[in-house]
Amino acid sequence: MPLRPRPHRRASLPSCVFVDRALITVKAGDGGSGHVSFRREKFIPKGGPTGGNGGRGGSVIIVAEEGMSTLYDYRFQLRYEAQNGEPGGAKQCSGGDGKDLVLKLPAGTLIFNNATGELIHDLRNKETITIAAGGKGGYGNEHFKSSTYQTPRESTPGEKGPELNLRLELKLIADVGFLGKPNAGKSTLLAALTRANPKIADYPFTTLSPQLGIAEVDAHRRIVLADIPGLIEGAAKGAGLGLEFLRHVERTRVLVHLIDLQPADGSDPADNYRVIREELRQHSQALYDKRELVVLNKIDLIPDKKEREKLIKSLCRELELRMDRDVIAISGATRENVPALLGRLWRELNPTDDVEGWKSAPIEA
Ligand code: GDP
Ligand code: MG
Repeated sequence: MPLRPRPHRRASLPSCVFVDRALITVKAGDGGSGHVSFRREKFIPKGGPTGGNGGRGGSVIIVAEEGMSTLYDYRFQLRYEAQNGEPGGAKQCSGGDGKDLVLKLPAGTLIFNNATGELIHDLRNKETITIAAGGKGGYGNEHFKSSTYQTPRESTPGEKGPELNLRLELKLIADVGFLGKPNAGKSTLLAALTRANPKIADYPFTTLSPQLGIAEVDAHRRIVLADIPGLIEGAAKGAGLGLEFLRHVERTRVLVHLIDLQPADGSDPADNYRVIREELRQHSQALYDKRELVVLNKIDLIPDKKEREKLIKSLCRELELRMDRDVIAISGATRENVPALLGRLWRELNPTDDVEGWKSAPIEA
């Protein structure tokens, strides 16, 4: 087994749409070796054995972390080692134990042994497991002393801490699903939200599967977004959706319904909204009933503020939408109000998490 995963493995990640993967190597600490020494004191020519035992190696421990939704953090470091135990010393000194290494993973992560393909563990919420136990410390020569064996010269080495190549797999559940008519601007908005951070945009599946992205609210807050054009376009053509895809989308918590305020085909935005709602209702009651944020898009096409406001107000009235709760107006292209949308989404998903500044920020309709 190679000590380090070869770099090319990262490049050969399968282009699976909804599975987030990472390959890492974990290594538990080695036990410290036992020590050989004898007591040396004046007038005691043949002192007894005093070599201490080695310390235990640190273990690699995995903790299921609530609120973590991707394996993102494991893309950048491939090797994780717990500390070795210290060797034993003279005068019956035991070596110190190595420190454990704790890795936080999202609940729902499947942990495979990458060498054998065996599933080692299916990580459940709040669980803590020892994935690689630290090696036991070796015995110092004092350990071997007995009434008939007064001068043992042997000690044992510490046990090696095991090393494992792990494959981590997490089924990504999008927090937010985008829907809307073709050309409403879903892809553009997804790109605007996920390209805010170039590191995020480089994340393999963003490029492999354009319909999924991660928006970074800040360093610790991320939202997984899925574009679901397949739902409506597939439904309209009578193509039907893959069951797995539908089930996935049904597990999103909030829908973003994107409406083009000024469709190039001259269609009526209110009609477009109703068409999608109706298709949704026919397709999946679960999706129809889900919390939906209506995002009025392409405001840059209506530069006149008064005209814009009038249009938004009349649309809300006609569709019986609450301006302050259900609607936000943005431009995916110029990114106007896109940060505010991200804040709104975060609050929809995490109502109790008060990110500084957001609660007081006015929400523009
Ligand atoms: P999708 O079919 O819903 O994914 O829509 P796209 O993101 O592909 O956008 C459809 C068209 O609308 C493209 O020509 C985009 O450049 C344009 N578009 C998207 N967002 C905006 C916007 O905010 N303002 C303007 N003016 N055009 C936009
Ligand atoms: Mg698109």
